[in-house]
Amino acid sequence: MAYPLRPKSRDFHATHMVTGLARLVYDEGLTAYNFGPSHPLAPIRVKLTVALAMEFGIVRPTVGPNDLGGVELVAAPSAPDDLVTRVHDQAYVDAVKRASVNPDLTDLEHGLGTPDNPTFAGMHDASAHVVGASVEAARSVWEGEVLHAVNVAGGLHHAMPASASGFCVYNDPAVAIRWLLDAGCPRVAYLDLDVHHGDGVQEIFYDEPRVLTISLHESPRTLFPWVSGFPTETGGPHADGCAVNVALPMGTGDGGWLRAFHAVVPPLLREFQPTVLVSQHGCDSHRVDPLAHLTLSVDGQRAAALAVHDLAHQVCEGRWVATGGGGYALVEVVPRTWSHLLAVAGGQPLAPETPIPLSWQQAVETDCRRPAPRTMTDGEPADYLDWSSGYDPADPLDRAIRATRFASFPSHGLDPGL
Ligand SMILES: [Zn+2]
Ligand SMILES: [Zn+2]
Repeated sequence: MAYPLRPKSRDFHATHMVTGLARLVYDEGLTAYNFGPSHPLAPIRVKLTVALAMEFGIVRPTVGPNDLGGVELVAAPSAPDDLVTRVHDQAYVDAVKRASVNPDLTDLEHGLGTPDNPTFAGMHDASAHVVGASVEAARSVWEGEVLHAVNVAGGLHHAMPASASGFCVYNDPAVAIRWLLDAGCPRVAYLDLDVHHGDGVQEIFYDEPRVLTISLHESPRTLFPWVSGFPTETGGPHADGCAVNVALPMGTGDGGWLRAFHAVVPPLLREFQPTVLVSQHGCDSHRVDPLAHLTLSVDGQRAAALAVHDLAHQVCEGRWVATGGGGYALVEVVPRTWSHLLAVAGGQPLAPETPIPLSWQQAVETDCRRPAPRTMTDGEPADYLDWSSGYDPADPLDRAIRATRFASFPSHGLDPGL
């Protein structure tokens, strides 16, 4: 469906009537991906997200043909080994299986048993389940069952072909992208909004011209993974320009982040013309996130979800697979930001000032013993100045944006500007 045919309202668009509603691939089994009570990646964040989205009626067990939006809940299959090994080495998968039955094992060669990636019973099954959810999301979009599909438990973007890294065992977005290519999808754009560089996905497709990876993140000078995510990483010899990195200065907030996003992402996506857009919505860019140093609000993250959704309709007829990712403010940020993501995918965005249902607040305060947020955003304007307004060479943010445009735009035939 051509973009100009869309109604002006963002509340609903005609494309959903034609090809069905959006889908959340989720079941409680996914919360078995659990490194234990002292680890920051606690599965409660996913549970709270789905509970909040269901409270609002965004996510529903069934969505009928007469519903004007909404997200249908479907269970997540597990990924068989031959799917996981499209991205990961068999020896690594075998090592994860050994760790699954012997959780005291330390296997540093494969990144297992470290403080970041402690081993746990059932680790392989839990990780393959997350992969299965992302592949199912990709399949349902590729086969035209839905326009948009979401796996909030996914986005484990740091996992490498032969090792676990950064809380990530198997790289579910990479396996989903590989599945799409294997299914005949000509081009996939992967957009990584997590505060950390999407290093695993970049590494896996670094020399693959059918995959464009774009990652916006806090500079690796001040944040994990330390060694990658610089604008000078632009792809391998067969895929020059197919890796794009925006390394943002510490402290970047909504305005700077959105300025960077709009200066880099839309022109590249329009030029690359992906067939499917896969996006990772790590929300650890929020100012209260304990693991990083950007200062976004939920309003900025909501604006990002809206922008990604709009771009999917503009550049690839709405074919959009979205995942979760990082996000360690388990109660304060993750459930709100990903409920916005689901609401956007369902064609019914929630207004920023929407109050949070009391029943959810009470459940959170009882279960988690911490105050629940009261409204759906932080009440920030989430404004930004467009790049066309001019470039300030004294501003570290502008220098970062310019470095990316100069490194990445020319190989796509785009003018990087001044
Ligand atoms: Zn992260
Ligand atoms: Zn849509």
